[in-house]
Amino acid sequence: MHSSDIEPGLVVILFPGLAGPLRRKIRDRLESYGGEVTAVEGTGRFYLEVHGEVAAIRSLVVESWPGVEKVISLGEEFLHTAADPDRGPEGVEVGSVRLGAGSFTIIAGPCAVEEEQRALRIASSVAAAGADLFRGGAYKPRTSPYAFQGLGDAALQILQRVREETGLGIVTEILDPRDVEKIAEVADMLQVGSRNMHNYSLLKELGQTSIPILLKRGFASTIDEFLMAAEYILSGGNSSVVLCERGVRCATATDEVVLDLGSIPELKKRTHLPVLVDPSHGSGASYRVPALARAAATVGADGILVEVHDQPEEALSDGAQALTVDQFGELVPQVHEIRAMFEGHISGVSDDLVSTPGGEDR
Ligand code: PEP
Ligand code: MN
Repeated sequence: MHSSDIEPGLVVILFPGLAGPLRRKIRDRLESYGGEVTAVEGTGRFYLEVHGEVAAIRSLVVESWPGVEKVISLGEEFLHTAADPDRGPEGVEVGSVRLGAGSFTIIAGPCAVEEEQRALRIASSVAAAGADLFRGGAYKPRTSPYAFQGLGDAALQILQRVREETGLGIVTEILDPRDVEKIAEVADMLQVGSRNMHNYSLLKELGQTSIPILLKRGFASTIDEFLMAAEYILSGGNSSVVLCERGVRCATATDEVVLDLGSIPELKKRTHLPVLVDPSHGSGASYRVPALARAAATVGADGILVEVHDQPEEALSDGAQALTVDQFGELVPQVHEIRAMFEGHISGVSDDLVSTPGGEDR
């Protein structure tokens, strides 16, 4: 059964000893919103099981109704992201690459497309080193409005050339829902960056398309919020969503970001979507990127998104975290080797899912 077939429902727990007329009133009220209500009598207390049209009821604060102690949501709120034990990993197709169907995908490129020859140079280097897709920003969401904002439309033409010359599929970030069409002409996958993970109009717009979306985790977002953002796209009809963990904010003395690698097994357990890791934004410093990329391969990510520059010291954005082409070349075989070492365990993720703590296999 696919998760979207699960009938959603609620259990409304009433206060012990609640008088009959008040119970009736709560029941009538739930029914007036379309709920099909069954009263269940427990030990000295009543529960109302609600099925049928529960969407409207979910948006009410039923817990604040007089006589209601607690509301438990049954079924699946994460209708489209939920893992389905009956379904193998289908993955998401981006150009000629399939992400999340068993292989380890490497997306690489500069933070921003800066100039045509440089973009072509970096692209052919990362292609030769084993990158599967090229990523470069045309429109950059910078913290400062005075910082380099990307070349915009001019970068799209450069990306088009990169695709023609290297054959690599193109990933680039979208900031504005009005740009979908023009970016989709040159890109094989659209990135929704960390800052836009909560931009619900953008997510809804992308849900109306069939373009693969790389959805990055908001840097202050919970896993539930991350998955709900994916629900916005998937529920609109676009089934091609890839998640990307890119670290969360943590203002310690030396760090601003902490790469939440624990989210990978969590997301793999809860969803059927491919999950990538971005060790570049997840560390902010190039010397930490290889270690975190290797860790990503260990914890079961379906790939990595790495920033690479031919001269990081000259980069117009995120130079401090960019790997050189040589460093990237060294990293690629390492992550594949690690991935191969853990292969059995990683493809066995669904087996881990069905085993319970204390079960016979432990
Ligand atoms: C980026 O990918 O260049 C970027 C800005 O990342 P994030 O949205 O994760 O900060
Ligand atoms: Mn960047």
